[in-house]
Amino acid sequence: MQTTYDENNIFQKIMKGEMPCHKIYEDDKTFAFLDIMPRADGHFLVIPKVGSRNILGIEEDDLTAVMKTVKKLSHAAQKAFNCDGITLQQFNEPAGGQVVFHLHFHVIPRMEGEKLKPHTGEMADNDLLARHAEMIKAAL
Ligand code: 5GP
Repeated sequence: MQTTYDENNIFQKIMKGEMPCHKIYEDDKTFAFLDIMPRADGHFLVIPKVGSRNILGIEEDDLTAVMKTVKKLSHAAQKAFNCDGITLQQFNEPAGGQVVFHLHFHVIPRMEGEKLKPHTGEMADNDLLARHAEMIKAAL
């Protein structure tokens, strides 16, 4: 099992502003932005600012900060999309389904009877993502 943290991962680049994203929230310990390949409308990611590979390598107070942001933004997403439910997902190491090696929680608004969209590998429409980010920010 790997424990190293690669400072050049894509989420670090997003936080540093070296790669674009649809940011919805930031505080001293956490950062949140829309997933570029959403499994449902409003699907976003919450990450710690500290470089942590996954759940196995993060300090408890940093994880607590992430969970506080997950809860705060889940409420905002529920209000924004008037959704019936919220799915949280979090993957650790390749065997656990992790693809990007900076700890992140997926927050996915869900509508009754609507399945998650499949992983197609295609990026969502940029304007649509921008609109969804604005909806969540307005509900904060
Ligand atoms: P995981 O590691 O949780 O299995 O998957 C990483 C997630 O990050 C995927 O849902 C993927 O769509 C998302 N993702 C990968 N690259 C980018 C990116 O450059 N920008 C954004 N906003 N999301 C990304």
